[in-house]
Amino acid sequence: MEIKADTTVCIGAGMCALTVPDVFDQSDDEGTVVVLRGEVPPELEDAVRRAVTLCPSGAISAS
Ligand code: SF4
Repeated sequence: MEIKADTTVCIGAGMCALTVPDVFDQSDDEGTVVVLRGEVPPELEDAVRRAVTLCPSGAISAS
């Protein structure tokens, strides 16, 4: 699974980091999304898909 994050679209809502803290974080200064893992382990893929659905700005995608 590959994650793409567009920090120019992210509004810092934090749903991604709340949903999958092992994969997403927020930057200290801007509050925008930070992807912590390049590779998502299979057991976290469903949670990542849920985070993509919950993101209000469409800043993250997974394929
Ligand atoms: S849920 Fe979306 S808008 Fe909120 S911090 Fe994550 S990527 Fe940004």
